[in-house]
Amino acid sequence: MVIELHQLKKKRTGASLSSISSTSSEELSIPVEPLQKMAPAKLYNELLPLKLSFEQLKQNGYPFWCSTSSQAVFAATANNKKDWAAPNDFYRKCSRCSKGFYLNPDGTANAQKCVYHHRAKWDPLTGKKHLPCCSAKPGPSTKGCLVEDRHVFSQSWEDTLWEFVVSPQAKGKDDHRSNKVFALDCELVHTLNGLEVARVSLVDMKGKVLLDTFALPVFEVISFNSTFSGVTEKDMESAISLEACRLQLFQLINSETLLVGHSLESDLKALRLVHHNVIDTAVLFSIVDPSRSYILKLSLQNLAKKYLCKDVQSEASGHSSIEDSHTCMELLATRHLLSVKL
Ligand SMILES: [Zn+2]
Ligand SMILES: [Zn+2]
Repeated sequence: MVIELHQLKKKRTGASLSSISSTSSEELSIPVEPLQKMAPAKLYNELLPLKLSFEQLKQNGYPFWCSTSSQAVFAATANNKKDWAAPNDFYRKCSRCSKGFYLNPDGTANAQKCVYHHRAKWDPLTGKKHLPCCSAKPGPSTKGCLVEDRHVFSQSWEDTLWEFVVSPQAKGKDDHRSNKVFALDCELVHTLNGLEVARVSLVDMKGKVLLDTFALPVFEVISFNSTFSGVTEKDMESAISLEACRLQLFQLINSETLLVGHSLESDLKALRLVHHNVIDTAVLFSIVDPSRSYILKLSLQNLAKKYLCKDVQSEASGHSSIEDSHTCMELLATRHLLSVKL
């Protein structure tokens, strides 16, 4: 999509929640070369300043590689979320109903009633939270309106840290994968090893889909989370292993490729991949509350509504990793048009 400048002017009138640098409407009336029309090398150089710094990668929980122990390591994030469970730690907390429970000593899970609401959504225009599933008021006191027969969780076994790989190095100066900018998005499903990848998509700045593959989770699937992932059991018929999926990805990216995504650390963790050339739209559009020094990341859905006047992730069939990738690129194009100093 090519964003019209008059649209941007209109949007900027009500813009109150971004770190977008200020640009007057007079400046916006001067045409700027849209990112979608730039040659790949120019696009890369134009966007390189937006990549996360080493500190930002650490602060936002991106994986790092520790060569002495041959494993991925993570700096503790602000909310100190525990992503990895030691071999003797069978305690898990359900990501839907927040109830604590224990896995069996063989790592399996018994059926236990999970009563929950879908996660509350925050509306930046009203500043209020609401539940997308029912009319109950968000908060721990209201009884869930949905029931499943098993709990789900995001923690993976610690052994997984040894399964990480680092994006391949460039093969010389003419490596076609270098100097490229692509949006990456994965759809994740709940398994007995936390969140695993079930679909991987890679899209370029023009919206062309370069990769869209279903990946077969290694552990037993507890929930395909189809409402959000859009992935169903039937999709697994054409799925390939995560390793094969990563090899397909490495045909297109190397460690120099700029990957764009929204909270891409979750996708990289699930892909068991260490990659540091990243533009994260959740960080790029985050809001700093000066009174509490608190950084608020907006959902992709809220950002799309605010800056692209577009409803995403609203299909009855759930999210689409292609749509999400494309939305990240559109946000980046908008951000670029708004921040160009002429
Ligand atoms: Zn539960
Ligand atoms: Zn509900």
